[in-house]
Amino acid sequence: MAYLPLLVDETGRMIIDVIRRFVDTEIMPIRDKVDGDVDHVLVNELLIKMSALGVFNVEIPEQGAESEGPSIATSCAIIEEFARGDAGIGIVAGISSWAMAGAVYGRNTDVVDLYHKMQEDKQPTFACFAMTEPASGCDVENLPEMHGRTIKTRAVRDGDEWVINGAKRFPSNSGISSLYCVVCQTDPEKGEDGIALIYVPEGTEGLSFGKYEVKAGLQADRNCDVFLDNVRVPLAYRAAGPGKDAIVIGRNISLGRVVSAAAAVGCAKAAFEECLKYTEERVVGGKPIREHSIAAGILADAIMGIDTARAYYLQVAYMLSNPEEFGEMHSTAMISHASSAKNYACNMANNTIGKLMELMGSYGYIRDFHVEKYWRDVKEIQLWLGGHQLGQFDIVRRYYPYKTT
Ligand SMILES: Cc1cc2nc3c(=O)[nH]c(=O)nc-3n(C[C@H](O)[C@H](O)[C@H](O)COP(=O)(O)OP(=O)(O)OC[C@H]3O[C@@H](n4cnc5c(N)ncnc54)[C@H](O)[C@@H]3O)c2cc1C
Repeated sequence: MAYLPLLVDETGRMIIDVIRRFVDTEIMPIRDKVDGDVDHVLVNELLIKMSALGVFNVEIPEQGAESEGPSIATSCAIIEEFARGDAGIGIVAGISSWAMAGAVYGRNTDVVDLYHKMQEDKQPTFACFAMTEPASGCDVENLPEMHGRTIKTRAVRDGDEWVINGAKRFPSNSGISSLYCVVCQTDPEKGEDGIALIYVPEGTEGLSFGKYEVKAGLQADRNCDVFLDNVRVPLAYRAAGPGKDAIVIGRNISLGRVVSAAAAVGCAKAAFEECLKYTEERVVGGKPIREHSIAAGILADAIMGIDTARAYYLQVAYMLSNPEEFGEMHSTAMISHASSAKNYACNMANNTIGKLMELMGSYGYIRDFHVEKYWRDVKEIQLWLGGHQLGQFDIVRRYYPYKTT
């Protein structure tokens, strides 16, 4: 990846090389089995190996200090590499840092130290960012219009504790995490000031889980309902405080969307590589498929789409790392740029993988040929974090205060 030196430093490139080798040797040979690994036997083996590599939670600083982890561009490039092998594994690798971002932003040493202790006690350790609710998905993320008023999960202060009641749906790493960052509302009348991100440790009385969802793909990621029934945690487990917790949601939307763009690029790249090999070997009309001009045109479009989507996610990652120049991560402008990166990359990947499958005929639809998996995985990457449509609203909001209501 010759373009990387522009935005990724020497250390970042070394990390990416290690991940690429890991993906090529450990994930690629078993990616179809990981896809069907309902009981997570292979997934767990991979996660333990990844943990030994030190790939989890790298952005979480020691003892609440400022993060010295990789840049956002490096983190994105790492996720692209993982998604080339298996996007679900990539999600598991990235979500814990995302879930801990609120505590890091709030310099909440109680929570960061608690998580470090959990990591000492158990490896690998996971965290979960639980925002989506059964009655409200996009609306929770649509802060400019809804201001967090649709969040039904309530947090009420009782002495020196929070008491939480409510339910969350679908969050990645649910059911397997040691720590849950739960997006709550203390008082809908307060709007964004009422939003509270509160960390709940696994095993807390009143915290329980539904069954794991059966999905089209992304088998390595676990998603289930999270129930909170009179859950009590210390006041100190609130991430950052009134107003700041809503900022964390905005920051996580920007971060999540740019990382999703990288994951979509990884899926498209993997499908392209498979298709390139296949169309060299398979002969139609007297010559290999890729020697036909119509096929070369489709392959050219795939290369162009992958290259441009990558260039844009790297640019946005760079912008997010330089808020003094481009604006805060949660600003309307940066959420817009991150949404452009996600929407563009997901559209590109959905369309590109579909066209690549056409070049392979029905073999493109057969599991042994390793392309349809990426087609299934990338669809969900497009659907989560507000999906394409909320992304579109957020994109235009850089230019005018668009409202859906
Ligand atoms: C594998 C997986 C991983 C996930 N990981 C996480 C996670 O880690 N944490 C988490 O909190 N959630 C997670 N989710 C949930 C996901 O982010 C949400 O499902 C998603 O944001 C959309 O919410 P929804 O499904 O409730 O759609 P809805 O809110 O019901 O929206 C449905 C559709 O309505 C349209 N729409 C939305 N808003 C408007 C509007 N204002 N005007 C007009 N049309 C609109 C859009 O087309 C949208 O796609 C995950 C889901 C999956 C399947």
